[in-house]
Amino acid sequence: MYQYKGLEDTIAAIATPAGQGGIGIVRISGKEAVAAADAVLRLQGGKPLAQCPSHTVQHGWIINAQIKDIVDEVLVVLMRGPRSYTAEDVVEINCHGGMTVLHAVLQTVLNAGVRLAAPGEFTKRAFLHGRIDLAQAEAVIDIIHAKTEDFLRQSQHQLKGELSTQLKEIREQLLKLYTMVEALINFPEDGIDAQGRQQILERIGIQEQVVLKLLDSSKSGRILKEGVRIVLCGKPNVGKSSLLNALLKEQRAIVTDIAGTTRDVLEESAQIKGIPISLVDTAGILEPRDLIEKEAVSRSHLYIKSADLVLLVLDHSHTLEEQDRSLIEQLKNARVLVVVNKMDLDGKIDLSIPERIFGTQHVVKVSALQPVSIQELEAKIIDEICQGKDLDARGILISNIRHIKALEGTQRNLQDACRLMNEKASLEFISEEIKSAVNQLDAITGRNIDEDLLNRIFSEFCIGK
Ligand code: GDP
Repeated sequence: MYQYKGLEDTIAAIATPAGQGGIGIVRISGKEAVAAADAVLRLQGGKPLAQCPSHTVQHGWIINAQIKDIVDEVLVVLMRGPRSYTAEDVVEINCHGGMTVLHAVLQTVLNAGVRLAAPGEFTKRAFLHGRIDLAQAEAVIDIIHAKTEDFLRQSQHQLKGELSTQLKEIREQLLKLYTMVEALINFPEDGIDAQGRQQILERIGIQEQVVLKLLDSSKSGRILKEGVRIVLCGKPNVGKSSLLNALLKEQRAIVTDIAGTTRDVLEESAQIKGIPISLVDTAGILEPRDLIEKEAVSRSHLYIKSADLVLLVLDHSHTLEEQDRSLIEQLKNARVLVVVNKMDLDGKIDLSIPERIFGTQHVVKVSALQPVSIQELEAKIIDEICQGKDLDARGILISNIRHIKALEGTQRNLQDACRLMNEKASLEFISEEIKSAVNQLDAITGRNIDEDLLNRIFSEFCIGK
């Protein structure tokens, strides 16, 4: 386990967001947390906090000793370690929720010899004291940043330690195999017959399958965490803005029958069946008339390039025009769902070209004016994003790039170990691969991680967490 030297200090920070609110919290953690609180606190009844039972709430006042005046009337929560967030003594001062009062309370606490906490330092301490592992600490950031309920649930499970338990099981199996292989290396007289090799091979293979299953979940995990960007494009007046509004379920884009109403790119967030979506309505201009339109067109191209899915909107009530053909040509290598809109009107369009280029399975016929139709469009969009697979948010989902990379490394090590076993290579090589696989797993939970990386991970947290 990584040894950290900076745990001696007592730290404090404002733990609630900047701005005004009902209450705001100043959090103190460390060996001197209670003494520091007592130095600035006068509790109702006159008892010092040090004599109060743990996990109780006390009423009192923060006093500025220099001016001998009240800074704020507060409620103080005392949580003695190790039963606290950081596993150290923690005092949380519930103040009135304004930035001036919170800064004044924090400054008073800092004057009592406490250091201002770095971003994520409270969670880092929980990790360094072994209360949670690194994967659980990272789940804390995910909970704070969760965009959907499904991802929030996933992160809560990770915080509870479900991923860590699964990794621990794989690790234990690999360590058993490692010990077995090492014993065979050290006591060659015991020998290893073909059956023994086969057994080791099978057991490595089983663990590789478990790792592959975890990796397989990362596609759904990434989608739930990051969401996807969907870009609407099509010539003016095909109904892009109407579709955007229908998918957002609010009138966000201006809809008129005057072609070219949307002169700039519009980006909005929505959720479709629990998946966070960023919806972009492009200007739909093919021949810019002025500088603003020229800029809008170049921005549209950038959005199309970065899109996870492009909705190419065509108008069912008009024949396919040169502008449609030009867009089809531009998009032929992108991931496209062709949306044939205005199905409520008489049809003139010939779909043979888009169907040939994109495939009939990537064409959906809708009307922006009919809610049933929009539901069908949503289902089709989900189908395209998940590529026909169900997005299963129930099991363990890997969503953190760092975890994905480490698991890919583990899987490669195990695959190589199997290959070497099949090639009847010396057992030393196989033992090395297994050891490497264990090290990669340990990087996820933080058993084996360097200080720089650790600091980088916690610097993504906000101050006070
Ligand atoms: P955009 O320029 O592609 O964004 O198109 P708009 O969303 O502004 O729509 C252009 C016109 O087509 C407006 O008058 C809309 O009311 C109309 N419109 C959009 N979708 C439909 C549809 O499905 N059916 C019918 N009948 N009209 C539509």
